Amino acid sequence: MSDLRLDATQLDRYSRHVIMDEIGPDGQQRLLEGSVLVVGAGGLGSPAIQYLAAAGVGRLGIVDDDAVERSNLQRQIVHGDSDVGRPKVESAADYVAALNPDIDVETHETRLTAETVADLVGDYDVVLDASDNFATRYLLNDYCVLTNTPLSHGAIYRFEGQVTTFPNDRDGDRSAVESDRDAGDDAAGESPCYRCLFPEAPEPGTVPDCATTGVLGVLPGTVGCIQATEVVKFLLETGELLDGRLLMYDAMDMTFETVEMRQNPACPVCGDTPEIESVDDVAYEGTCEISAD
Ligand SMILES: [Zn+2]
Repeated sequence: MSDLRLDATQLDRYSRHVIMDEIGPDGQQRLLEGSVLVVGAGGLGSPAIQYLAAAGVGRLGIVDDDAVERSNLQRQIVHGDSDVGRPKVESAADYVAALNPDIDVETHETRLTAETVADLVGDYDVVLDASDNFATRYLLNDYCVLTNTPLSHGAIYRFEGQVTTFPNDRDGDRSAVESDRDAGDDAAGESPCYRCLFPEAPEPGTVPDCATTGVLGVLPGTVGCIQATEVVKFLLETGELLDGRLLMYDAMDMTFETVEMRQNPACPVCGDTPEIESVDDVAYEGTCEISAD
């Protein structure tokens, strides 16, 4: 890569990146050539979209089938008061266009389902899960495991958030992995997936967060920014990702805690004898809906 590919305006816009050895013109070029699908243009998606666009991630896909409501504006900062009633993807795309003309925004005003996930994820480098429901969370996890697509996970509840990154860089196809294991390798060092932690989505009505609940407005800002940080590092191929680590943030106590996660050999999608070999194997809808994203 050559720094000649950044024009004078870009060298100016991204000068605080370019000046750093860890990024430089080549790193900025990688960001400009990078692509991220942000699923959800709500509380987590807002800061993620804003910072990824500002950083110069060249191709941003945004999936959301909702319209902006006034009650969103307390935390979904990519939208403004005049956007109430507009599709969230349009409002978010307008924000990006105004911020950085380098960014190619692709809007998808639709719901991510087992039928649409392959077309939507397509050839994006990374998926950033900024969704607000278990159906989407499990669907993205399973699809990204099965297709070796890197996935950033973020979730919030009231005053607490959690973030992790699933690189999904397992070697080759599953049959190759199995033959490695047959040859005596254990799964040591293998990265976990979301189902390794939580194998099944809760049934409707079984967990307290099924009901609409409140959320501290700035909380998704913090969590979405951490997700954007991870994605930028992934595209730059620098730093240590939250791979095999779950970062838990408590805004009330103002504590950050990191717990190690291991791959679960009994995991239904990435384990030794997976039950899920296609997203068509799972009924994603009908699981508990969580509320304020
Ligand atoms: Zn797993």
